[in-house]
Amino acid sequence: MSVQTSKEVIRGRLARVRENVAAALERSGRDREAVRVLVASKYYAPDQILALAEAGVELVGENRAEDLVSKQEHFGDRFEWHFIGHLQRRKAKVVVPRVTLIHSVDSVRLIEELAARAPEEGTEVLVQVNVGGEESKYGVPAGQVEALLEAAAATGGRVLARGFMTLAPLADDPEDVRYIFAKLRTIRDRLRKSWSPHFDLSELSMGMSGDYEVAVEEGATLVRIGRMLIEEDGPVRRKDGS
Ligand SMILES: *Cc1c(COP(=O)(O)O)cnc(C)c1O
Repeated sequence: MSVQTSKEVIRGRLARVRENVAAALERSGRDREAVRVLVASKYYAPDQILALAEAGVELVGENRAEDLVSKQEHFGDRFEWHFIGHLQRRKAKVVVPRVTLIHSVDSVRLIEELAARAPEEGTEVLVQVNVGGEESKYGVPAGQVEALLEAAAATGGRVLARGFMTLAPLADDPEDVRYIFAKLRTIRDRLRKSWSPHFDLSELSMGMSGDYEVAVEEGATLVRIGRMLIEEDGPVRRKDGS
């Protein structure tokens, strides 16, 4: 999927997202700098990436290894890059040297592969958690999170866990998915202390165009914004109205 959106539209939309994030932080009594806005670059073709930079976007997240490569050829050095899509083990080699954070680590075997590909100083990752159960295809159930942290710890600093990521199910009313974000924060809070000798598990990547304000209220440190920047009237609801 790709769209043509002017940098003025993107800039205006981004400003609105930042204002809404700031208001959500204030409402929840959190620090003004506590959230970074990541823009999902999957909606943009490689030759449209410059518009994002010109609109003031600093942090982008790509879903596919091939797209990451082709987009970084176009003004790749204008951004910090994260990887947010499902990562296949055979793509780890391509992705690791190109990004500063992988949001979507969901298996012990992937962790082992990342360890083999990581530079000396290690590669930073989030564990993707399937908080909502069967509704989402990817991510580990809450009960398996510690097994992944143990696998990361066993890499001797090659794979550095920095926190957790989740994808909430699509909902018309973001209040319907608030419990998902609250639950991920509870998981993080529970594990943070016991794991502090190994990892600083401070990051919570949660919230997209339709639900980022609720996610910020529940403790997000990274929100991943896509559609909101390209549509004139905010995110589209499902067409059937369900
Ligand atoms: C596309 C995507 C987003 C952005 O979603 P929008 O609903 O377009 O804001 C966030 N996270 C991931 C993993 C994505 O693939």
